[in-house]
Amino acid sequence: MTAKPTLPANDEHASREAVIATALAMNAAGINRGKSGNVSARWRDAAFDGFLITPTGVPYHRTAPEQIVAMTLAGEARGALLPSSEWRFHRDIYLARTDAQAIVHTHAPFATTLACMQRGIPPFHYMVAVAGGTDIRCAPYATFGTQELSDHAVKALAGRRACLLANHGMIAVGESLEQALALAVEVETLAEMYWRALQIGVPVPLSDTEMDVVLEKFRTYGQAGMTWSGKRKNN
Ligand SMILES: [Zn+2]
Repeated sequence: MTAKPTLPANDEHASREAVIATALAMNAAGINRGKSGNVSARWRDAAFDGFLITPTGVPYHRTAPEQIVAMTLAGEARGALLPSSEWRFHRDIYLARTDAQAIVHTHAPFATTLACMQRGIPPFHYMVAVAGGTDIRCAPYATFGTQELSDHAVKALAGRRACLLANHGMIAVGESLEQALALAVEVETLAEMYWRALQIGVPVPLSDTEMDVVLEKFRTYGQAGMTWSGKRKNN
């Protein structure tokens, strides 16, 4: 898969604004409340190779583009404010995944409810394949901000674009901020449907064969310009 540039080249200010806009959109979409989540986008230019991430402790509606923290892949922060306390898993996902151009982390209510039960999302609905596989895993619990949590997250994301974090929340990875946000919304929708189904019994899972058919269709459509949310793009 060819990684597309997330954001306009050589326009760091626009990239910073896009990170803030995505954080605001995440809360407006109801998949995050307050300042609990965080957003980042890969950023590279001639002199820098890293990512731009929301700072810690500043409400998104009061965050200025200059307050978005630039971090190198070595974990060195450049800016007046401290980066989100979860910068490690953002950094490690960018290091591990060339397809990762943007990351949205939220404490979305339904996804987090399942995560608090330490349950992933099984193939109860074909759209589970939107995250790249036959299920959406739940990474084991580790304290927020730790290398241990980051290691668990990278492992749970193997072959996937989203995972839950036990007793914590979820992570969605995209080739752009728009895709990462759309995937986070989709994962929360799936988590809600799965939770609802669990109220009346045990949902009937789709077989690996059926899920493979869907995964193949998504792969094919993906090349034709389908977004992970299943909507056809105009490019
Ligand atoms: Zn968190």
